[in-house]
Amino acid sequence: DPEGGVPTVMVVGLGRFGTAVCESLVRQGVDVLAIDTDERRVQKYADELTHTVVADATDGEAMRQLGVGSVDRAVVAIGSDIEASVLSVITLHEAGVDRIYAKAITRKHGKILASIGADHVIYPEYVMGQRVAHMVTDGVADYLEFDDEFAIARCSAPVETWDRSLADSGVRTRHTITVVGIKPPGAPFTYAVPETVVEEGDELVVSGRVGDVERFVALPR
Ligand code: ADP
Repeated sequence: DPEGGVPTVMVVGLGRFGTAVCESLVRQGVDVLAIDTDERRVQKYADELTHTVVADATDGEAMRQLGVGSVDRAVVAIGSDIEASVLSVITLHEAGVDRIYAKAITRKHGKILASIGADHVIYPEYVMGQRVAHMVTDGVADYLEFDDEFAIARCSAPVETWDRSLADSGVRTRHTITVVGIKPPGAPFTYAVPETVVEEGDELVVSGRVGDVERFVALPR
């Protein structure tokens, strides 16, 4: 940013997903330009967000007037209206927005978005569904999967790690996962080091390839 300030991120659509994106951006100190065709939604968030405008993202002329050509990132958070979602991505892409993140509700919708200029396609329901499927597994408290088959999980420590240091139990070589953090009951998380001794009931944060993490969290505990 030439002025040295925070970059502006444009958010299209102030539904549940879009407002969650906006709230988090504001917390991070990012300048947000939020637009929605629905005046009531725009008014509702006018106090919390830096710039809120009633505008139609499928209207090229309106987007140029808003100066979106100088916006380097946009999040298209339109869900159910696939036509509006697709046309918004095309319009922003043509208006010169550098990086477009678009929410898709189905695989086909996502494929279309990727082919017309969306740089990142987000599948919130799919990602959350997968995460919940891992969270309902015994002993797994949280799970996050990244692109390219890498994951991070929060789980209770398996029996084979109890009463010894991470170096002694050799989890990294035996399971090809890395223990990143450890949390004894009632205490905060700390970084794990080779000398860290694991006790029954401790929680671990582990990272590694998806299959390795899934095998590790399934060990007896
Ligand atoms: P969620 O499921 O996250 O609540 P919705 O699909 O319900 O998402 O909300 C999408 C929002 O996008 C709505 O507030 C709607 O008014 C807005 N919207 C739809 N089309 C456009 C458009 N062309 N330009 C700007 N905002 C739009």
